[in-house]
Amino acid sequence: MGRLCCYHSPMSRPNHALISARALQHNLARVRALMPGSRIMAAIKANAYGHGAKQCAAVLAAAGVDGFAVASIEEAEEIHGLGLRPSCTVLAGAFSGEELALASAHGHRLVIHNQEQLYWIQNMDSSSSLEIFLKVDSGMHRLGFSPAELPGVFNQLNATRNISLRILGLLSHLARSDTPEDPYNTYQIEIFQKAVREFGHCTLGEHSLPNSGAILSMPQSKTSWIRPGLMLYGLSPFVSETGRALGLLPVLTWQSQIVSVRELPSGSWLGYGAAWQAREASRVGIIACGYGDGYDRRLGNGAPIVVNGQHSRTLGRISMDLCFADLTHSDARYGDSVLLMGGKELPLEEIAISLDTIPYEIGTRIASRVPRITIP
Ligand SMILES: *Cc1c(COP(=O)(O)O)cnc(C)c1O
Repeated sequence: MGRLCCYHSPMSRPNHALISARALQHNLARVRALMPGSRIMAAIKANAYGHGAKQCAAVLAAAGVDGFAVASIEEAEEIHGLGLRPSCTVLAGAFSGEELALASAHGHRLVIHNQEQLYWIQNMDSSSSLEIFLKVDSGMHRLGFSPAELPGVFNQLNATRNISLRILGLLSHLARSDTPEDPYNTYQIEIFQKAVREFGHCTLGEHSLPNSGAILSMPQSKTSWIRPGLMLYGLSPFVSETGRALGLLPVLTWQSQIVSVRELPSGSWLGYGAAWQAREASRVGIIACGYGDGYDRRLGNGAPIVVNGQHSRTLGRISMDLCFADLTHSDARYGDSVLLMGGKELPLEEIAISLDTIPYEIGTRIASRVPRITIP
């Protein structure tokens, strides 16, 4: 049987996440088809959910995305450094007055959600300019002004004459878009739409509500800006459906290699804590990946992996830099590729369920020492 070829990175440790540009473009097209005419602010916070913010931003910008959503000015600065056309919106706005100057200088848009931020705006250097969204708390009760506070907020902003301020629109976030049938979604959408009816004229009318769950399932949540994150990476926010079932393609494929093969007599103990014992003469492959790469320790002793195209499983405990593959019934050998997660065969959604978490968390756990490599 032919060996499956692995990506050879210029670094020597064979452990990397391949990022499929084609899958990313396909998923962006899915977003467009679901809410045609809306402008798309791609959520690339937390290193693009672990997929590589710089890599994904470059692909998405080339595919015509309209903006990026990030969690901090630092993340916005990283993207700004790439010199791409779409600007970043900082979802939680500024965490200090100093950050406003940077946002102003580099054209980052801020989501304004509290009195402190309003105060910093009022005290900006005159002749600076700033573009903001105003966050409305429509029921999540995390960030945002309640609708009742909005008249006061607009009064304060209207009194800000020292700078050139563009209030793009109102922005809110849904708490239960992963369960579309939940009536709380309807409740939040109605609160938001009421705020838009009452206060939209005080803005430039560029409002923003839906994230992935809502884009996929709630056409009535459509606004002029939409904010997909998870679905762009080909992942499903719904527990009962994979991204593939929703017409999305997985973007990430995490690969490593077999860097040693051992023949163990029956009865041998394997690895830390001797957490696995050979019941028969066994072949064990050593994989160059461990929990130091973000491969969860709970994936020891039985997590599915694919070695040289053949389904296998982990054995024993996950070490910091290494783990074990069962090669007893496989012809795999030194240098063969190991699929750890992702691609078509090991959906992140399934890994998430096995670890009792959500796919959002799985990618963000992949450590920074794992290079993200864009492939066409
Ligand atoms: C992360 C985030 C998004 C994107 O959500 P997905 O569920 O990944 O599509 C949108 N809006 C806000 C405020 C966010 O924090």
